[in-house]
Parts: sequence; C-alpha cells; structure tokens
Amino acid sequence: MRTLELVLKPEEAFDEAQFNSLLYDKLGVKNDGTVFVYPVKRSIDARSKDVVVRIQCEIVERSEARPLTTYRRPVGNVSNGARVIVVGSGPAGLFAALRLIELGLKPIVLERGYDVQTRRRDLAAINKEHVVNPDSNYCFGEGGAGTYSDGKLYTRSKKRGDVKRILEILVAHGAKQDILFDAHPHVGTNKLPRVVTELRQSILNAGGEIHFDTRIVDFMMQNGSVDGVVNQRGDKFPGEAVILATGHSARDIFQLLFEKRIEIESKPFALGVRVEHQQALIDQIQYHCFPNRGPFLPASSYSLVHQARVNGKQRGVFSFCMCPGGFIVPAATSPGEVVVNGMSPSRRDSPFANSGIVVAIDESDFLKYRNHGPLSAMYFQSHIERNACVSAGGTQAAPAQRLIDFLENRTSATLNQSSYQPGLSSVNFKDVFPDDIIRALQQGFRNFGIKMKGYLTNEAQVIGVESRTSSPVRIPRDGKTLEHTQISGLFPCGEGAGYAGGIVSAAMDGERCAEAVAQKILRI
Ligand SMILES: Cc1cc2nc3c(=O)[nH]c(=O)nc-3n(C[C@H](O)[C@H](O)[C@H](O)COP(=O)(O)OP(=O)(O)OC[C@H]3O[C@@H](n4cnc5c(N)ncnc54)[C@H](O)[C@@H]3O)c2cc1C
Repeated sequence: MRTLELVLKPEEAFDEAQFNSLLYDKLGVKNDGTVFVYPVKRSIDARSKDVVVRIQCEIVERSEARPLTTYRRPVGNVSNGARVIVVGSGPAGLFAALRLIELGLKPIVLERGYDVQTRRRDLAAINKEHVVNPDSNYCFGEGGAGTYSDGKLYTRSKKRGDVKRILEILVAHGAKQDILFDAHPHVGTNKLPRVVTELRQSILNAGGEIHFDTRIVDFMMQNGSVDGVVNQRGDKFPGEAVILATGHSARDIFQLLFEKRIEIESKPFALGVRVEHQQALIDQIQYHCFPNRGPFLPASSYSLVHQARVNGKQRGVFSFCMCPGGFIVPAATSPGEVVVNGMSPSRRDSPFANSGIVVAIDESDFLKYRNHGPLSAMYFQSHIERNACVSAGGTQAAPAQRLIDFLENRTSATLNQSSYQPGLSSVNFKDVFPDDIIRALQQGFRNFGIKMKGYLTNEAQVIGVESRTSSPVRIPRDGKTLEHTQISGLFPCGEGAGYAGGIVSAAMDGERCAEAVAQKILRI
C-alpha cells in the first residue's frame, strides 16, 4: 500500500471525470482495476489567494483490495431477546437500539413524535400557521433534533475508530460515501429523513419495536430500580433496563425526574443569536473570490471564537453550528416561545449563510432562578425564549435586528430578507437578553469583524434566540456502569443527559449505553 497526496484546483477535485484522469495520470496506470484507490481525507485549503483542495488517498494492488467499509446492517433476530426500553429516537436512541440488536437484546424504542414523513406536516404548521405541536416539531419526532438539520457530522471526539463506525453505519443506511473522508462531512436535511427511515427499517427487520406518538410520562420503579416506563395513555412498557435518550429539549422529563427526587444537576449552556449573511459575501471573504465562488467550490463556512470581558468577567463568545447555504428554522418545542436553529440541504445552495453566535452562560446568569434548584438553568433558558416570543408579537415570528444596529443598540427601521419562514419582527435585543449577554455578543461581533473583513454590515442581521445549544441539565451517571448514580436500571444517555453535543457524539453515546446495558443484563 502507498499513500498519495494531491493538491488540486476545485474543478479537478470535484469533477469526477477530471479527478479520475488526473489521478491515474499521476499513478501512471490505467483506470482498469489494476490498482484500487481509497480516499482518506479531502479538505479545502483557502489560506492562500488561490483556493486548493487537498486529497489524501491510499493506493493498493488488486490483490490487497478490501471493501470500503466493514459495517454490515444487522441480520439476526432479537424478537425473543431481553427487552430494553429506549426512550427517544434521536441519534442516541437509534444507535443504542442498533447496538442492542448486535448484542442480542430487544430494543423497544418509544418516541413522543411521529415518523419522519408525518412529522413534515407539523413542521409546515410551525412555519406557515405558527402552531407548535409540543410532541412533533424540529426537535421532537423520529430521528430527533438531528433529522431536519444540517447533518454536520464533525465532532470534537478524538475516538477516531468510534467516529468512523458511526459514519460507516450512516453510509450503510444511505448517506453518501463522501462523509467517510470529507474533513467537514455533512448529509443535508433533504437526505437525512431517508437515512433515518433506513435506520428504523434495520431495527424493525431485526425484531426490535418502535412506537411513535408515545410520550413517556412516568417510570415504573421498585426498590430504587427502574423496570419500565408509562406513556401518556397509561400504557406500561416493562423492560430490564431503560435508556433515557430524550434530548436537550425534554423539559417535562427533567421536571419528572425532579419531582420524583431522582438526582439531576443544573448545567451551564450557551445562549445568543443566529446571524444571517448573504452566502456570496461569506464566500468572498473566505475564498477571496469575486463575484462568486464558481461552480465547484462548496458554500464556505467559518468558525470564530473570542474572549469577551464584561463587568470584569471573561465570557467566551463563539460561532455555533454554522449552516452555509442554509435556512434558519423555528426550533421551539412549546407554544409561547421562540427558538431558532439552522439547517441546510445537501447542496447547501440557499443564498443565505447562518450561524449561531453564542455566549457561554454560567451559574451567575441563572442565580435569579435558584429557587428551581437543579432546574434553574432550564427556567432561565425558558424565560429568554418567552421574552423572544413576546418581543416579536407572540407568534413564531422571530425578533431581529440588523447587525450594525445591534452593535449600536438601535432598533432597525427595516429588516433584510431572510430564510426564516415564519417571518421577522424588528426589536431591540435589549428587550430579550440581560445586558451582560448583549455586551458580550457585541464584543464578539466586533472581534469577528476584524478577523473577517466585511463581516460587519447592516446587510446582515441577528435573529433570536439561539438557546438550545446543549442541555441545561445533567443527569448524573456512574462513570463505569453508565447507570444513574442513584437508580439502578436507568441509563441517562445522549445530549439531554449532558453526555453529547451533536449527532455523532450522541450516536456514540447511544452505542456506549447499549454496551453498558448488555454488560449488566448479560454480564458480558
Ligand atoms: C435544527 C437543528 C439543526 C441541528 N444541526 C446539527 C448538525 O448539523 N450537526 C450536529 O451534530 N448536530 C446538529 N443539531 C444538534 C443535534 O441534532 C443533537 O445534538 C442530537 O440530535 C442529539 O441527539 P439525542 O439523541 O441525544 O437527542 P435528540 O436528537 O434531541 O432526540 C431526543 C428524542 O427524544 C424524544 N423525546 C423527548 N421526550 C420524550 C418523552 N417524554 N417520551 C418519548 N420520547 C421523547 C424526542 O422527540 C426526540 O426525538 C441540530 C439540532 C437542531 C434542532
């Protein structure tokens, strides 16, 4: 085996015919199966004036050829296996279910929302009629918060093998193979529902169960141990263990745990706005191109961070979940609140670039809510979301301010066009956020304007609020057994429990919890 690194023009890298002819020329062999080429990494390097694409490949002789991926969809049948309850069908829940099947256990997945197809109707109702169904929205429903998203698959996890496995599982269920080697892989909101449907099919084919419209409202408990759950209709679902993977927005679950005196802790999160620019402007800044990026380069993104200082206190301000060529979406989970997030189609071809710009929040920010104990951060988060709703008129219209106006504390006389479908309302964000958050955001934006010339413009606007960046609650678990520190049989899992942030890390945590359950039940 040998490796090859190519530094190519965008058209050479992204046009398949040009790429193949260049590659085999360089190798000095014909494209006739004499050698096999495995892409290892593809990244865009825009540091110098001319943007290049770096591609690393492994080249092997025909005799050493291997399949591109090793993962295979489950073939066994676990219908008679021990029952394990998985609450939530987000990435954590679905990947937990698949791994349980591999380990011979029967997952019973319980999901408050609907299947991906039916869920679309409720998304349309939020966008067009301003009606938020508390069980089916951009956060709740099959595939969880990851289904109608950008489907960015980067993670800060250093466990390369585990990350690769998650990506391979996604490819086996219909995602493009590019995600295996792109430096910044993403799937796109138009492709994710099909992948999620295939994941469901694998679980059902192997004898697992999935129940939609099944909101869990109680735990079945005996002597400090959980042995099942109860849904909104009073139906009981017994199981030998419960994986609780309900995501960062399941406030009723946090409330339930609190009321049942099951230990939980408040957790800092990040809070701010989403900023929306024309994608062409971001491309011009990032790719040094004019007037546009041309037909081959993908929509450009950015990642920014600044340490602000407000009232003598340092506050991290950073870009979060950037969606190039994307849309801002209404991500509220209850009527009376406004929350924004971002998604992009696989081609990232909308004319807008949006990114969360958020400030790290800590205990001092939710001090006022301390009478809510471990739910204090959650109540603070909810208060800001309600402010956002009231300030913008009480519908799903979102508060907005042009960027320079935001920096100069001025309500905008007019607003720009936006990708946010329910519409915008011109407000002064001083009516939404505490002063410290505003000042930290302003300092952050000013710094980003220095790093990216042209970024600060009134043709951009901030839209709020970006508040569901991570869970405001942690559900403590034992570091080794992954069981709740007090309650036997309960496995807090994924982003809602505070152990993941994003699709890939949630999926990885789902697998880990499934393995921990198997260790307990099967003693393996
Ligand atoms: C619009 C949007 C875009 C995003 N874009 C990206 C991205 O590009 N890349 C990325 O890595 N991350 C992205 N995220 C974040 C990502 O989706 C989450 O980090 C990830 O989905 C967390 O997975 P999870 O399984 O832990 O929880 P979730 O995905 O939140 O899943 C929890 C599930 O539990 C269900 N549930 C909740 N309560 C109950 C109950 N009582 N009974 C039964 N079921 C219940 C919910 O309906 C939901 O389906 C985005 C999020 C949003 C909202």
